Amino acid sequence: MDSKQFKEAATSAIDEIVNYYDTIENRRVVSNVEPGYLRKILPSGPPEEGEAWADIQADIETKIMPGLTHWQSPNFMAFFPASSSFPGMLGELYSAAFTAPAFNWICSPAVTELETIVLDWLAKLLNLPECYLSTTHGGGVIQGSASEAIVTVMVAARDKYLRETTSHLSGLELEDSIAHKRSKLVALGSEAAHSATQKAAQIAGVRFRSIPVSKESNFALTGEALEETLKQCKAEGLEPFFLTTTLGTTATCAVDDFAAVASVLAKHAPPNVPGEIWVHVDAAYAGAALVCPEYQHLTASFEHFHSFDMNMHKWLLTNFDASCLFVRRRKDLIDALSVMPSYLRNEFSDSGLVTDYRDWQIPLGRRFRSLKIWFVLRTYGVKGLQAHIRKHIKLGEVFADLIKTRPDLFTILSGPAFALTVFTIVPKTAGKEAQDQISKEVYELVNKRGEIFITSSVIAGIYALRVVSSNPLAEEQFLRKAFRILVETTEEVRDGKVI
Ligand code: PLP
Repeated sequence: MDSKQFKEAATSAIDEIVNYYDTIENRRVVSNVEPGYLRKILPSGPPEEGEAWADIQADIETKIMPGLTHWQSPNFMAFFPASSSFPGMLGELYSAAFTAPAFNWICSPAVTELETIVLDWLAKLLNLPECYLSTTHGGGVIQGSASEAIVTVMVAARDKYLRETTSHLSGLELEDSIAHKRSKLVALGSEAAHSATQKAAQIAGVRFRSIPVSKESNFALTGEALEETLKQCKAEGLEPFFLTTTLGTTATCAVDDFAAVASVLAKHAPPNVPGEIWVHVDAAYAGAALVCPEYQHLTASFEHFHSFDMNMHKWLLTNFDASCLFVRRRKDLIDALSVMPSYLRNEFSDSGLVTDYRDWQIPLGRRFRSLKIWFVLRTYGVKGLQAHIRKHIKLGEVFADLIKTRPDLFTILSGPAFALTVFTIVPKTAGKEAQDQISKEVYELVNKRGEIFITSSVIAGIYALRVVSSNPLAEEQFLRKAFRILVETTEEVRDGKVI
């Protein structure tokens, strides 16, 4: 494809993408193809001769679209959203055009420097304490996902803990102590924390222990529960070195009691003392709400913690992937992740005056992801982003109010919180088993019909439905439609009239 052909193909692709967005609400939101559908309609190998773009493009509608679940549809109310916006897409386009995997500063100074600058902008926008800015000892780095961010900081925390708690030893004694301690290290997270922490522990080769949460504390981590777990770990000879706290849990958008966590840790593992517990704040989804001053009190304790991560690609209009990780001491990351083979050396890295982001992440190569964040921040501005979040919070309240109008059919279990409402279906005959059963049946039938797409979750043993109103194209009419579908489906299932 030469540049003239590229121009024609790109124009045609953009036309098709714009049309896709303009009509997306009319498509069945969740794909209903059978597993293996694509192999049946694609040839068994690549073509011998190159094909024309028009032929390739035609297959998007006929072969790919049927197998897509339309995350950008306003009828998509499942999981958490995966944001997309036109400025975000333009950022991806330029990033692809430049394709400059800037692992070292010299590999493309603009890639590194823009990332540092926009993440400082973002840290200020989210009201993170100054210690997370690159102008102090901290700084931000874009990761591929919140899970990747947790693995990255857990490895830094593990090495920091081992280094600091064995610094008085040397030789064989040091080696033995490290080997012994490694087998005792335990990472903590609440029962409601995302499974990413457990997975990170598997990867980092440490134990994982979850801390119970309850309905009484609205499924958030409390200081008492943390204290109890710390005591248990101590009694068992385990060494807690890492804790994930969550701002907006996946199941219910609960917010952990950060102030209580900070005060319990001040007692059990005082900050800045060898053996302190690294506290990571996982704000993958709800962290976006921190752009609004009315949520910024939530960051008050973060200066006592060590890292914070939020996904711009979930709720802040930036296309996947843009997980923004901030650390209080960048040296901890660099100490754990830096290796310097001769082929990566250069005068700028040696000078110590530049940032080489390869030392802040697991992979070597990296994409120019700050460009799309820059485009989004500039296109919407602070006011535009605040309006975006507030609109969705309001839509969550509208939906929850609708649910409350039918106490005969629905019971709210949690929320609305950060545009998420969690509820159960009222069975005809009372009892938890009947409630779980009908909630599951309604959930499965709604998704099978594919007019809207929602998710379910089991919270403290209760089967519940989740409706999220923060899709970029969300509007009141779609939430009213979702409510109507839920009412009709529930009535059908309760009356045994399902066809
Ligand atoms: N943390 C929370 C609170 C989440 O809700 C999710 C996913 O929804 C994750 C982490 C994992 O996100 P990622 O897909 O970016 O790894």
